[in-house]
Amino acid sequence: MPQCIFCQMVAGEIKPAVVYEDDLTLAFRDIHPQAPVHVLVIPKAHIANLNELPADAPGLAAALFDTAKKVAALEGIAESGYRTVVNCLGDAGQAVDHLHLHVLGGRRLHWPPG
Ligand code: C5P
Repeated sequence: MPQCIFCQMVAGEIKPAVVYEDDLTLAFRDIHPQAPVHVLVIPKAHIANLNELPADAPGLAAALFDTAKKVAALEGIAESGYRTVVNCLGDAGQAVDHLHLHVLGGRRLHWPPG
């Protein structure tokens, strides 16, 4: 899917600020950070949103969360605390149609989110 901006990052056609990468996932800094640490974790395979995450691929879900944990450790927020967010479709405000997990931290986060 060449028109997908996150697929273009996976392909190396667009170069984000990569924080971590492995066979299944890529983590990079959000260009409009909403907290001192704001990193997006994506599957390298194109999956449009959380609804499309295959039920028979539990390893991929685990890999996404494992990468989120690694990002938190690398960014020094594993002990102070952090939030993971997945926006799915319109009412949640999903803007990029490639599944991504936000990792937010580095400040006291408000609850509930807007
Ligand atoms: O969950 P949602 O789809 O709203 O989030 C998309 C995120 O992708 C936004 O936080 C936006 O800043 C980020 N983004 C990015 N680099 C791009 C395009 C979008 O970090 N080139």
